Amino acid sequence: GCMTTGILWLRRDLRVSDNPALSSAVDECDRLLAVYIHAPHEEAPWRPGGASNCWLHHSLQQMSGRLQRLGGRLLVRRADDSLTELARLVAETGADRVYWNRLYEPWAVARDSRIKSELLRQGCRVTSFNSALLHEPWDLTRSKGAPYKVFTPFWKALLNAGIDRSIAAVPAQLPPAPKIGDGCSVDDLGLLPSIPWDSGIKAHWKPGEQGAQEALQAFLAHRLRAYAEARELPDRPGTSLLSPHLHFGEIGPRQLMRALLQLPERPPEAGGKRGVDRFAAELGWREFAYHLLYHFPQSQDQPLHDRFRRFPWRDDHQRDLAAWQRGETGIPIVDAGMRELWHCGWMHNRVRMIVASLLTKNLLVPWQAGARWFWDTLVDADLASNTLGWQWVAGCGADAAPYFRIFNPVLQGQRFDKAGGYVRRWLPELQRLPDRFVHAPWEAPQAVLQQAGVRLGDNYPLPLVDLKASRARALAAFDRLKQDAI
Ligand code: FAD
Repeated sequence: GCMTTGILWLRRDLRVSDNPALSSAVDECDRLLAVYIHAPHEEAPWRPGGASNCWLHHSLQQMSGRLQRLGGRLLVRRADDSLTELARLVAETGADRVYWNRLYEPWAVARDSRIKSELLRQGCRVTSFNSALLHEPWDLTRSKGAPYKVFTPFWKALLNAGIDRSIAAVPAQLPPAPKIGDGCSVDDLGLLPSIPWDSGIKAHWKPGEQGAQEALQAFLAHRLRAYAEARELPDRPGTSLLSPHLHFGEIGPRQLMRALLQLPERPPEAGGKRGVDRFAAELGWREFAYHLLYHFPQSQDQPLHDRFRRFPWRDDHQRDLAAWQRGETGIPIVDAGMRELWHCGWMHNRVRMIVASLLTKNLLVPWQAGARWFWDTLVDADLASNTLGWQWVAGCGADAAPYFRIFNPVLQGQRFDKAGGYVRRWLPELQRLPDRFVHAPWEAPQAVLQQAGVRLGDNYPLPLVDLKASRARALAAFDRLKQDAI
């Protein structure tokens, strides 16, 4: 008979459940080679940062083990060029078909379409699938095919199109791999840092499909019910902590929606807000982010609203940016967030908004500089969600917060970290400050500071900016922009 040999090109779809490319390949092939090709320079200017690489290391090891238990194996290769490597593997194995799940970043769309047409030209069948989204970004459009720029109508359209999507089963067994020369080990990729700054990441996370499923189950069992309110409180785990798992495709949004739909019916919670609806809508924001990045690829480093191109950002911001990055702004909720980020590779959403607002508004540092720091330090760094988040806060994005709404980080802290538990966890130097002053130590009388062992400007910084004056400066900058537009 005629043997069908296929190649499964794995990228950010590191799971065996709900993996349509894997399932089709298993159904159609007598022999199957699963490969991960390491060519990070192809992702420029968005090469994964240090935290992402850490995660990827562990996720690849998990995936490799998973495939082995199903009777297959994961070939790992480093390459100068993914196309050349794929073409070589096709030749070495005699494969006549290649399978992958789609990526949506501008660099990936460009690379993958080039690879697809070249492989087709060489006589190889190429099939790509959607594993990362509920619906393709091009399937949801307004009349005449225009993309959405506002969340609510987008979300309505998505709900209309349906959230209960088909899910590919875990294959019982993988076809044997074709004979092929060796690859390298995951260790050989050098994804882990040479100076071990990643102990916090290791302690906080369990990368891989199994870890993703455990995180989901813990969330459904303990946190979903109170999610609508608890998601705003950074001092406790109130959210799903699924973002890095979603980014690397260790779990998919279809699985999450299915899990929500299968919950026993529950009455609405206090205030009529149901955790389950709120959580589903957050997954909707993720889809919206992908929709925007796909339709407005320039938004990865340009403001979505053109008039912001002339916004008077400060040029001389290096010192302020560095203080912000190190968590040394002297504004506790901001510094706590930046240190959580550095330590865990993650930051609570509410605090992401607060630190981003301080940077782009009070400090007038371009949002792109903040986005870049997040890119290097987040384990969930995701071009679509990061771009949306930063442009939203900076006021230049789709459906953004109006520019004049400038967060006051002290009031935000007092409201969402009332007892100061979050700030004290990350800033032990403020441990003994009374609740009243823990979000604004500079307002505390000298005697109170002394008793708490806080020496402003010595063991904790004085605030980098005057919040009131810098707020006025930001509003003035925005006014100028508005006048220019007229
Ligand atoms: P949950 O509250 O449990 O939400 C579940 C999932 O919904 C998340 O995992 C995420 O996939 C999605 N989601 C939730 N909120 C948003 C949102 N605002 N936009 C898009 N998707 C959302 N998220 C990233 O995944 N990667 C990023 O690089 C990223 N950068 C951000 C930058 C800024 C300035 C801001 C304000 C937000 C950013 N977010 C980013 C969105 C959000 O902060 C994180 O998704 C969330 O904190 C992850 O924690 P969780 O999984 O516990 O969230």
